[in-house]
Amino acid sequence: MSEDREQLKTQRHQQRQQKLKTAVDEKIANAQEERGVLMVITGNGKGKSTAGFGTITRAVGHNKSAAVVQFIKGGWECGERNVLQKLGVPFVVMNTGFTWETQNREQDKLACEQTWLAAEKVLADPNIDMVLLDELTYMVAYDYLDLERVLSALKNRPAHQHVIITGRGCHRALVELADTVSEVQPIKHAFEAGVKAQAGFDY
Ligand code: ATP
Ligand code: MG
Repeated sequence: MSEDREQLKTQRHQQRQQKLKTAVDEKIANAQEERGVLMVITGNGKGKSTAGFGTITRAVGHNKSAAVVQFIKGGWECGERNVLQKLGVPFVVMNTGFTWETQNREQDKLACEQTWLAAEKVLADPNIDMVLLDELTYMVAYDYLDLERVLSALKNRPAHQHVIITGRGCHRALVELADTVSEVQPIKHAFEAGVKAQAGFDY
């Protein structure tokens, strides 16, 4: 009796998997286009920058050329930068050390402008296959950067170039322009339980 039930389960599983495989195969057959993808990783959960750097590392692992532009520089060094720079990935980091705490709007705006000029350069460079614009969302949210300028640079980038934008509260226009958008939702964060940010795990 129980053997029969097992057999039935196995049969049903096979049927389900076959159905799934047919659907997936069809989707794979339909996805033939190859071009640069604009990806947004937003939301309040932890893992946005980590995912951005992970994708840059993936590209470098395939001998692609990549560049990183960071719009917020906290007081901490960045573990990924220590590795990726050695592998020839150029980093541009906003030089005021802009963080959530800075209160000098004019100074931040100026630093943002300079950093964005560097971003525009890489976004126009056909030799760069992938660009990470880490924490760009805040520059738009705080109105340090003109949205139209950002949209225009993204739209006019080389056709093969992938771009990843990270940060909370991404502007709707960027979400609309993007091809892939992921929202990281916080379920729990160790910080709430009193665990401090640690080198190698949080930065
Ligand atoms: P990570 O760099 O770890 O991928 P992130 O890019 O998703 O994080 P940010 O909003 O850029 O997150 O914040 C950076 C720092 O804030 C990290 O040290 C991260 O651990 C911490 N952090 C992220 N999300 C939360 C949260 N929900 N509560 C508390 N701290 C957080
Ligand atoms: Mg981040």
